[in-house]
Amino acid sequence: MHALVIHAPLDLRIEDVPTPEPEANQLLVRVRAGGICGSDLHYFNHGGFGTVRIREPMVLGHEVSGVVSRAGSGVIDVPAGTRIAISPSRPCGLCQYCQQGLHNHCLDMRYYGSAMRTPHVQGAFRQEIVIDRSQAHFVADSLSDAEAAMAEPLSVALHAVRRAGPMLGKRVLVTGCGPIGALIVAAARRAGAATIVVTDVNTLPLESALKVGADIALNVAEAPDALQPFAADKGSFDVLFEASGNAAALRGAFDVLKPRGIIVQVGLGGEMTLPMNAVVAKEFDLRGAFRFHEEFAVAVELLNKGLIDVKPLISGVFPYQESVKAFQTAGDRSKSMKVLMTFD
Ligand SMILES: [Zn+2]
Ligand SMILES: [Zn+2]
Repeated sequence: MHALVIHAPLDLRIEDVPTPEPEANQLLVRVRAGGICGSDLHYFNHGGFGTVRIREPMVLGHEVSGVVSRAGSGVIDVPAGTRIAISPSRPCGLCQYCQQGLHNHCLDMRYYGSAMRTPHVQGAFRQEIVIDRSQAHFVADSLSDAEAAMAEPLSVALHAVRRAGPMLGKRVLVTGCGPIGALIVAAARRAGAATIVVTDVNTLPLESALKVGADIALNVAEAPDALQPFAADKGSFDVLFEASGNAAALRGAFDVLKPRGIIVQVGLGGEMTLPMNAVVAKEFDLRGAFRFHEEFAVAVELLNKGLIDVKPLISGVFPYQESVKAFQTAGDRSKSMKVLMTFD
């Protein structure tokens, strides 16, 4: 079978890799669809992000869905032919953080397609993969393979919304509405947000965010002062989801966030200089949001029931044989939201 292996920046190869056998409580899965994530793009374009670098060839990908082709011993509830979304979150279950229910902080996390540890954890952009039964989540017939693969980024969004606390009646600002920002819009809307305003520097992400539930979309490249009306009376928003990783976006939101406003930083932004006196004087809560764990099951359930529609965010599907074109397309934010590949 084939896998997509990154060797160096812009050096992504289709390689033959052996198909392992499913052991006890495992499943052999035929991968159907895989979404290209921001982290995959960082590995593809730059060989990594921050201090995380590719030090050995690594199969990319962690947003996948597929069909079970064979179950290992001990699995009685997942027959061959079952369509599933695969959670790439593989915490150890034993460390202190897993014991506390903080699985995304596991000391021995083996997240697919990640160079955070060496040897790297190989990813899921491959035609066949062996997973643990616990990673498999049943997908409704009404859902396409591509929609099912969106369960992973939706889980990231659900975790971010959960980090913000109760959404009911809140006025929400989302800065940066690529796939994660737009999915936060959908999740916050579903969770009861009263008003959702989004900003971006491109037209397509703004239009996409409106399709999944945003009330107002502001292009801050065309109108840098577009948020200014929201600064009156110490601000208009209860919650900021910062999904751009851009220091200017975060800094600008300080002026429009109400006192005691909650900032959830989702975008990875590296080092920034910020006016901490504003954090003090307006008593902001600054919170991070990183990955997810139990939210994956919730994401699949919301998708299965049609309570969140991710179709407007799918902007392209390519066969894996055209993976380089798929990655190049995914990297163009003016033309793409979520780009996926098929692995038939
Ligand atoms: Zn992802
Ligand atoms: Zn653990």
